[in-house]
Amino acid sequence: MNEDMNIFNTLESEVRSYVRSFPTIFTKAKGYKMWDKAGKEYLDFFAGAGALNYGHNHPKMKEKLIEYITSDGITHSLDMASTAKAEFLNKFNDVILKPRELDYKIMFPGPTGTNTVESALKLARKVTGRTDIISFTNGFHGMTIGSLSVTGNSMKRKGAGIPLQNVVTFPYDNYVDDQNSLDYLERFLEDSGSGVAIPAAMILETVQGEGGINAASPEWLKKIESICKRWGILLIVDDVQAGVGRTGTFFSFETAGIKPDIVCLSKSLSGYGLPFAVTLIRPDIDKFAPGEHNGTFRGNNHAFVTATAALDFWKDDTFEKEIKVKSEMIYSFLQKLVDTYPELKGEVRGRGFMVGIASEVDGLSNKIAAKAFENGLIMETSGPKDEVFKLFPPLTIDEQGLKQGFEVIENSIRSIVK
Ligand code: PMP
Repeated sequence: MNEDMNIFNTLESEVRSYVRSFPTIFTKAKGYKMWDKAGKEYLDFFAGAGALNYGHNHPKMKEKLIEYITSDGITHSLDMASTAKAEFLNKFNDVILKPRELDYKIMFPGPTGTNTVESALKLARKVTGRTDIISFTNGFHGMTIGSLSVTGNSMKRKGAGIPLQNVVTFPYDNYVDDQNSLDYLERFLEDSGSGVAIPAAMILETVQGEGGINAASPEWLKKIESICKRWGILLIVDDVQAGVGRTGTFFSFETAGIKPDIVCLSKSLSGYGLPFAVTLIRPDIDKFAPGEHNGTFRGNNHAFVTATAALDFWKDDTFEKEIKVKSEMIYSFLQKLVDTYPELKGEVRGRGFMVGIASEVDGLSNKIAAKAFENGLIMETSGPKDEVFKLFPPLTIDEQGLKQGFEVIENSIRSIVK
C-alpha cells in the first residue's frame, strides 16, 4: 500500500468505503482501464457499480462536453428550460420511448438513484392516497429514508437509527415453479379486509444488483404485473442499476414484456459518470403539482449533453447485438469456472452484463476480488454475505479486454483454491 493512503485511512475511521477494498489512489481512466498513481494499470470490471456502462471518458461524450463547455453552454439553470435539456427530452422520446411503444412523462427528480426512488414512492402514495409499499427481500433502492425503507438489507436499515415503517417485504422470485410467494402475496391482498391496507405500490429490480445478482424470471415479472393491475397497485421498476443496457436491452424489463407504471433510471444514464436521474411516469398519474417535488441540482446541463450523445448507441440494434455476443462470452466463461473449480461451490447468476458467481464458501468471493485487485482487475462483491463476485465491465469493452480480464480472474481463483 503506498504512503499517501495514510491520509484516507486516518480520515475515514470506520466509515464504509471502497478505499478499503481497492487500496490505491487512482489518477486516470479510459474505456475499461484505470491507472493508479504508481502507473499500475487495472481492468475495470466494476464500472462504477453500473454507472459507467459506456466506459470511462468515452470519446463521443467527451467531445460533445468539451464543445459545450468551450462555447460557454449553461452549466446550472435549476429548473429553467435550456437547449441541452430540450435536446435530451426530444432524443429520449425519439430513440428510447417511441420505438418501444412506451408512453411516459419524463421527470427530473434530483441527481441520483435515491432521488428517483424517493419521487416514485411519494408519487405512488399521492396518486393512490394509500400508505404502504410492497418491496422484496434483498432489494436495494438507496440510502435516504424512503428508499432505505424499501431496501431489504438490515445492516443498511440500521443506519436510519429507527425502525422504518409502512413497508411489507415479500420473497423475491423464490418459488417460481410452485408460485408460493405469489400465492401468498395474493392471499395477503385478499385478506386486506381484515385490516391490512392495500399498498400504494410495489417496487422491484428485475435483477437485484446489490442484493446478490438475483434475476427474476419473465414469468414472475408478468405475474407481478397482473397482480398489480388486478388490485390497482402501481408497479415501480427500479432500473437504476439494471437499466441503460446492463442486462442487454435499454430497459431491463423489456424482455419480460411488462410496462411498469413508474420507472427509475440513473447511474449510466448520463453516459459519462455524471450524477443524473429521471423518473418515467405513466401520463395519467403525473400528479405532482409544480414545486411539490424539486431540487437544486435536478437539471444538470453537462449531464444532459453527455446523456444525449450516449443515446446514439441506441439508434439501431447494433449495440444490443454486440452486448448479446459479449455477454454470451462472459456467461460461458463463468460457467466454465464453476465446472473447472468445484472448490468454489459456485452458481452462475444474472443476465446480460449483470452477472457473477455466488460461492457457498464463506468469504471466498471477497478473497477472489482482493486477489484480482492485486493482479490488476477491479471487481466488487455483493449479496447479503458478500457471497457473489460480480463481473460488471463496461458494455463497450472489446473481446480482447474481456479475454484479458478472464485470464486475471481465473489466475486469481486458481492461486486461491488450488
Ligand atoms: N437503486 C438501485 C437498484 C441501486 O443499485 C442503487 C445504487 N446502488 C440505487 C437505487 C441508489 O442510487 P444512488 O446511489 O445513486 O442514490
